[in-house]
Amino acid sequence: AIILGIESSCDETSASICIDGEIRSNIIASQAIHAKYGGVVPELASRAHQQNIIPTVDQAILQAKVSKKDIDAVAFTRGPGLLGALLVGTSFAKSFALAMDVPLIEVNHMQAHILAHFIDQPKPAFPFLCLTVSGGHTQIVLVKDYFEMELLGETLDDAAGEAFDKTAKILNLPYPGGPLIDKHAKDGDPTAFKLPEPQIPELNFSFSGLKTAILYLVQAEIKKNPNFLAERMDDLCASVQDRIVSILLNKLKKAAKQTGVKDIAIAGGVSANSGLRSSLLAMGEKYKWNVFIPKFEYCTDNAAMIAIAGYHKFLKKDFVGQDISPLARMHV
Ligand code: ATP
Ligand code: MG
Ligand code: FE
Repeated sequence: AIILGIESSCDETSASICIDGEIRSNIIASQAIHAKYGGVVPELASRAHQQNIIPTVDQAILQAKVSKKDIDAVAFTRGPGLLGALLVGTSFAKSFALAMDVPLIEVNHMQAHILAHFIDQPKPAFPFLCLTVSGGHTQIVLVKDYFEMELLGETLDDAAGEAFDKTAKILNLPYPGGPLIDKHAKDGDPTAFKLPEPQIPELNFSFSGLKTAILYLVQAEIKKNPNFLAERMDDLCASVQDRIVSILLNKLKKAAKQTGVKDIAIAGGVSANSGLRSSLLAMGEKYKWNVFIPKFEYCTDNAAMIAIAGYHKFLKKDFVGQDISPLARMHV
């Protein structure tokens, strides 16, 4: 079966073609417009999606060397995300399904981040644990089947991606700061600055205290030395990253112990972080886990993950009607 996947939940417009469970194209149009505002502006995101969606889909079809009329179903991100952004992808998918007379498949964006692990080999076996770390979510999920997932823990305030982006802002780095912190951290000393590890019960997370700690530290140091940020950027980034990674992995270790599950995956934009990837690999070796880390292009938002999730729903004939509407909030 040939599935067209559409993603438009935040600030990337993406389209992908999946043929019998294999990804043949994954076109991503990122929206540069938001950088100068220091974060995603919902109105501008919707407008950019409207401009990008048709050329992005055209390119995905072209690159996959298929014909529009060969497509068997269209899968789209229903939520969670920005409502105006989701509406563009949803409306496009509905029109396409109607015009081409093919079934429509709704996909949960957070499930799709996890299901990106079913694009390439090796694929995790059920049940596995997934730490989903993205711009809007931080979750530990017990994945029992493709669409049967149990939320074991989540953040009580900021998401891990937000922690990266907000601390980057304090360090005067442009949006989105996550990848820049990663880059600077490579040349820094992770023990240079001591940052607090919050004591949060169960498998939940909190990152707002970390943000405040960095703000106070930077303000105090700049008073003593106006050049502080420029001089210590690498050490600051390495220390911040090290703390975010240790908060994440300590909870993941706890979840593995609690459930006895040894197949461990990470997903979402922050799973592109090199510190998280290398520390997880080291931890996996120590505890004899089978560790699953997505390819970079499948970490941040992409339609390949929507198309693969759509493919697995197609096999179950799990379709929706034209009365479907997007949802800003959706549980995993
Ligand atoms: P959600 O999936 O929760 O709806 P989103 O779709 O906006 O949110 P993603 O696209 O999955 O989130 O991830 C974007 C986030 O990933 C941003 O916060 C960005 O800073 C972060 N990120 C991307 N690459 C890296 C990296 N190398 N290191 C740290 N953070 C990163
Ligand atoms: Mg994005
Ligand atoms: Fe996402």
